[in-house]
Order: sequence, then C-alpha cells, then structure tokens
Amino acid sequence: MFSKKVVENLALQYDSFYLYDENRIAAQVENLKTHFPDVTFLYSLKCNPNPHVIRSIFSRGFGADAASLGEVKLAASCGLKRQEIFYSAPGKSAGDIEAALDCAVLIADSIGEVKRIQQIAARRGEIIDVGLRLNPAFSFSGGPALPSKFGVDESQALAFLRENDCPNVRVTGFHVHLRSQELNADILAEYYRNVLRLASRMQRVNPSALKFINMGSGLGIPYSPESRPLDTAGLGAAVRTALRSFREAFPGAKMIIETGRYVVSEAGVYATTVADRKTSCGKTYIILKNTLNGFIRPSLARLVAHYSPEASPAGAEPLFSDVNAFRFIALKGGEATEKVRLVGNLCTAADVIAEDIMMPPLECGDTVVITNAGAYAAVLSPMQFSGQSKPAELFLDVSGHVSQ
Ligand SMILES: *Cc1c(COP(=O)(O)O)cnc(C)c1O
Repeated sequence: MFSKKVVENLALQYDSFYLYDENRIAAQVENLKTHFPDVTFLYSLKCNPNPHVIRSIFSRGFGADAASLGEVKLAASCGLKRQEIFYSAPGKSAGDIEAALDCAVLIADSIGEVKRIQQIAARRGEIIDVGLRLNPAFSFSGGPALPSKFGVDESQALAFLRENDCPNVRVTGFHVHLRSQELNADILAEYYRNVLRLASRMQRVNPSALKFINMGSGLGIPYSPESRPLDTAGLGAAVRTALRSFREAFPGAKMIIETGRYVVSEAGVYATTVADRKTSCGKTYIILKNTLNGFIRPSLARLVAHYSPEASPAGAEPLFSDVNAFRFIALKGGEATEKVRLVGNLCTAADVIAEDIMMPPLECGDTVVITNAGAYAAVLSPMQFSGQSKPAELFLDVSGHVSQ
C-alpha cells in the first residue's frame, strides 16, 4: 500500500506529511480507462488540487471538473484546453462567469444563471455553448425526484428549452451528479442508464445538437475494512450497451464520468509523529502532531461515532464517509499489545482520532501512518487553527522520486 522505507526516510525530515503515490494514481486511472473505453473522464479538482497530483492525472488523459473559478484557472494553468475544463457549481457570480468563459465550458446551475450568461453573451456579441445541470425526475436509487440546491428540475429545464428565449445561449450539454461514494455497481449502472435516457428526453425538445452528457460521479472506494471494492469491470460491462446505443443516437456527444476520490483517495497516506505519551486515570494517551488540524476526517469520524445512535451512520460527503474509514498503523511494526487513545497536540479535547484501540507500544518520535488520505484530506483540514506548522504535501512519482 505504501513503501515503509520511503515513509521512514521522509519522517526523518518532516514531523507530519501527506504522501501521494503516483503508481497508485496511475493504476486507478488505468482501471477506469480499461473498463470504460467509450467514456471521457474528468478529475474533480476539489478533492485534491495538489499540483503534482493533478498534472499526473491530466497527463493520463483526464479533463477537469472545476467547482470554482480558482479551479478553472488551475486546470487552465496546467495546459488543459477550454473543451477539457467543465465548470459546474451553484451560485457563480457574473464576474466568475465572465472570467471563466474563455477557458472553460460553463455548466449553468439555474435558469437565472443561463439568463446572466445570455446578457454577457449579448453584450460581447457572441453565441455561447453551455451545459445545463439537471435535477432529474428520478433519484439516485431510482425513486422519485428530490428537492435539490443543484441544477434545474427536469420539468423546468424542458419548459425552458421549449421556450428558447436566450438567443445567445445554446444548451449543448447536460450534467447530473446526485451522489458520491456508491459501492454497488448495480445501483450505479441503473443510475447511469437513467441519466442517458434523461439526455435523450431533453434532446427531443432541445434545438441544439448535443456535445456532451456528464453523468457525474458516484464511484466509491472501500473505506471500511468490511466494504467490498466497487466492481468496475462489472459496472463497465453493465453500461456498455447503453453507452453504445447512446453513441449511435448522438455520435458527436462525449459521454463523461467525473471522479475525484476513486483516483486519489487510496493513493494518499498521512504520516505523523508521536510527540508525547502519558497515562491518566488508567487510560494511555498517545499525543500526535497535527491530527485534527492536519487531517480532520479521522477526528470527524470519531465525532460522528460518538454522537450517532447508529452503528453505521449514513455518509455526509465529503466530511464523513464511515466510522471505520481510516487505519492507524505504527510504522515500526510490532505486536499490538497496548490499548491507547490517539489524540492530537491541539488545545481542544475534540482532537481525538481513535479511542481505545490496540497498538504496538508507541514512544516519542515514532511514526503513525493513517490511510485513505488522498482525497478530501489536506484540502478540508483547518491548518490555520492554533498556529501549528502545516504538514508537508509530498508526491512520490513513478520513478521513485519525491517532490514537494
Ligand atoms: C465533488 C464532486 C464530484 C467528485 O466526487 P467524488 O465522490 O470525489 O468522485 C463529482 N462531481 C461533482 C459535481 C462534485 O461536486
């Protein structure tokens, strides 16, 4: 999963750091490309915008799913062309729209946004092709529509396309994203097929030719040791026929899946150092550098486990996926003979990442490695809190070289 030797060497230099493994990123990317040969993939920058990580993923043929103007600019700075960057987010300002227009495909999130784009396009004397994010008349698992802050309800979108009163805007793509972190290939396959049918329904009234259908994400990774990995081979096979018929009906349209965590979550580990140990009222505390502030998700998982009455509470992505989403590994190895609480060095009692787990006896200076630290990890963590030094972010490339 990670090279013990590499982590050991880096731990001599850094007391807390993320390490992203390019070999694992490459393997995840290859897996998707093999099983979905007809699909164009986008990388969702928000889960890990580390410059080495994104350049590696883009160099393997992925485009960008940008959720802000900053991410649009970041993707463009890596050399991606306009047609490879898709900017989808609620609440874009007129300034965001205008600044992104020339370097990304805009995916409008509301009819109000289409009208703002119309005004800008009319002023510039241009016709602008946009995508429209839809809130379909079905839910992720096939039930009826649910209210959503994202996208335009299917019925409203149909009415808008029929009316067609924005002469400077052509809707040439659709985007749906309803859920992250699904491990059931049957549910995902049915969802993707539903999205393709939805696009066909829209095209019956849309006067513009279709250039893309973005089916969103959903590709999950096994966080807890009990979860089975997503069967990407089975999923690819289950949607192949639907994708082929869609391609025949709309030969010019890209079929897109976007994903963040599938590509990078398992490629990252977080390593931190034991700063102190003590016992109090019979409990042994191991105090680590930069836990809640350096990698917040293990602390959030503890909080949810503490307050939820359920044994496996539902996810709240991307803050919380599973109460057992992270493994805590003593790098030096040895038998797990001591029951400890793993806590951080912040002045708050909420800075706890594991309660009463068995670990090898840990001493000051030992390294503890936390898994699943490649996605929604460094970016979500409150590194400014309490004036601690920030963890480093390091990239181990395919040739074995580490860069910061
Ligand atoms: C965050 C996000 C994704 C990425 O989700 P993952 O679960 O990390 O793959 C994809 N699409 C949209 C619209 C998103 O907001």
